[in-house]
Amino acid sequence: MSKILIKNGLVIGVDRQEIQDILIQDELIVNISAYIDPPDNAAIIDASGKWIFPGVIDPHTHMGIPIKSGHSADTFASGTRSALHGGVTTILDFSVLESGQSLDESLNQRIKLAGESLCDVGIHVNITRFEPEILVEIPKLIEQGFNSFKVFTTYAEANMMLTYAQIETVAGIIAQHDGVLMVHSEDNDVITRASEPYADRSESHPRLHGLSRPAEAELVAISHLGEISSRTNCSIYIVHLNTAAGLAKAAEYPMLRVETCPHYLLLSDKMYEREDGQMFVSSPPLRTESDSKALWQGIQHGQVHTIGSDHCPFCLADKPQNTPFQDIPNGMGGVETLFPTLLAQFIERGLDLGLLVRLTSGNAASIFRLDHLKGSIKLGLHADLLIVDPELPVQGWEKSLDTNLDWNAYVGLPALFPETVIQRGVVVVSEGRVKYPSPGKILKSKSTSQE
Ligand SMILES: [Zn+2]
Repeated sequence: MSKILIKNGLVIGVDRQEIQDILIQDELIVNISAYIDPPDNAAIIDASGKWIFPGVIDPHTHMGIPIKSGHSADTFASGTRSALHGGVTTILDFSVLESGQSLDESLNQRIKLAGESLCDVGIHVNITRFEPEILVEIPKLIEQGFNSFKVFTTYAEANMMLTYAQIETVAGIIAQHDGVLMVHSEDNDVITRASEPYADRSESHPRLHGLSRPAEAELVAISHLGEISSRTNCSIYIVHLNTAAGLAKAAEYPMLRVETCPHYLLLSDKMYEREDGQMFVSSPPLRTESDSKALWQGIQHGQVHTIGSDHCPFCLADKPQNTPFQDIPNGMGGVETLFPTLLAQFIERGLDLGLLVRLTSGNAASIFRLDHLKGSIKLGLHADLLIVDPELPVQGWEKSLDTNLDWNAYVGLPALFPETVIQRGVVVVSEGRVKYPSPGKILKSKSTSQE
């Protein structure tokens, strides 16, 4: 039996912060009190002057997913190692539905790949085909502990799109079984129209990627999805929301949940003018500074529920300069810098750290029904904990990244990395380095009967 006692840390909860001792036994938190007597054989960590956060849940990653020209550049093994370095102790990734596969087959294929992970992993189930055999699988998967499904309102050319009518049918089924529908929300017709001027490829600058997927695409899609959520009573989670207009529209519908990403908060479309502008090509694209300002306001007004990295990285060689924007692999890395950059921003902007906890762990745990395991510092939950030294410098962190990737979008921005990361009772990061990685496990959501 292993025991760790963390003494005198400032425990950052959703609505209060208190100096407390935390006792961990094996994988779980077994005591939290103002003073705990050190038990025999307990390892003691002195956290005086330090902050203690729950381990981060990154609700949106794409480890090693197939693209036209290969795979995104992190495997589950490399991506989860760098996740741990940045304080992410749980990632929620996505299955990939190949032609001819059932949802169950696609899920199991992904679970197998995720077996090499070093943090815990949940899998959202992608639904990129609308067929009766697929729809009947939804209730069964929810019963088995996979309660979140993702659909796309675009990517018709890649055969991944569902129409709004099809999405409404899927939403109806998911709502009946208390699942969550996640939607990539960019309207396909708007994108098709906006892309026409670039079809002959006479112009191919990365900035045109943004113009080919205008903000209007998000607004139109969210308007449809809001109505669908009201009609079906389905909880619909908008992934990677990125525009002021989309945010304002989403706020009109109580059944919508909103995720945004660090790149929409910390970067803007100005990046496309840089010499390495092609590296910032992602979908949806980076937006204006006023969009990102609106997202920060949305965060403070409770209109944003989670922040996910949408980690889908590529190396410099994967995105060569002067490639027409249509051929640049879409995506950026962000799982490792997710929490450290946000924490530095919250400090700089004087924002409530309890809000940061909600956005980076608590809300994801409750939306995806993992709050019986994770998402807060509470008796009986997994001991996934970050110890942060607020006195550590927030610059120069690039040197200590733990990644295979040769390019990082956030270099130059402040970031405060955790000094210690505990994953299900095991110290995996110590003195800011991944020292004792231990295997992650596959998570299942709590069934409604468990409540
Ligand atoms: Zn994504």
